[in-house]
Amino acid sequence: MSTPSIGVLALQGGFDAHLKCFDAIGIQAHAVRTCEQAQGCLGLVIPGGESTALIRLLAYSGLDRYIQQQHKQGLALWGTCAGAIVLASHVSAPQTPSLKCMDVNIRRNAYGRQVSSALKSIHIAETQRVVGEGVFIRAPKFESWGNQVQPLLTDAAENTVALSQGRCLSLTFHPEWSNTLNLNLHAWFAQVAFNSTYGFSLSALKDLT
Ligand code: GLN
Repeated sequence: MSTPSIGVLALQGGFDAHLKCFDAIGIQAHAVRTCEQAQGCLGLVIPGGESTALIRLLAYSGLDRYIQQQHKQGLALWGTCAGAIVLASHVSAPQTPSLKCMDVNIRRNAYGRQVSSALKSIHIAETQRVVGEGVFIRAPKFESWGNQVQPLLTDAAENTVALSQGRCLSLTFHPEWSNTLNLNLHAWFAQVAFNSTYGFSLSALKDLT
């Protein structure tokens, strides 16, 4: 078995930026394209990209079932943008298959087409304190979620843009491409992943700032 580390799913999309973020803070992370490469991972990032392509490639590689099984055993998961779509229990516009690791309904391309991609201010849920800006690229929106799910961050229009359920974290924007976000989410993800008894909570997120 390989040394425990963080994996970044590298089948498609913006995996390289996540790998660079982990590298910049001295956390060992590696690209995952096969179930074998995912062995020993304590956390796995599912990056932005194209969710339809990601889901197809996950099924083709067998990583879909592997991730679902490992998550039940404690593997921490973090989806950003298309990754958030992949983790949701229900996807609309259009409806697509997904891993169903989080009790969340998500709508694709919900801010509009590519021209509506934008930087938006990011606020802590409940307090509405601003923690910087997030990059939204043909981003989805969380439409509803179950009572095990906790909203963590919102945009200025009070759309929830980050939420968590136990050891699963989901963001509709790209923290890996923002240098104005005053939250080290990569360090937080690694901290939770390496401590099997932790989940992603709003109180822990507030302590990051
Ligand atoms: N619009 C893409 C999708 O539906 C997600 C875009 C992104 O990851 N930035 O899969």
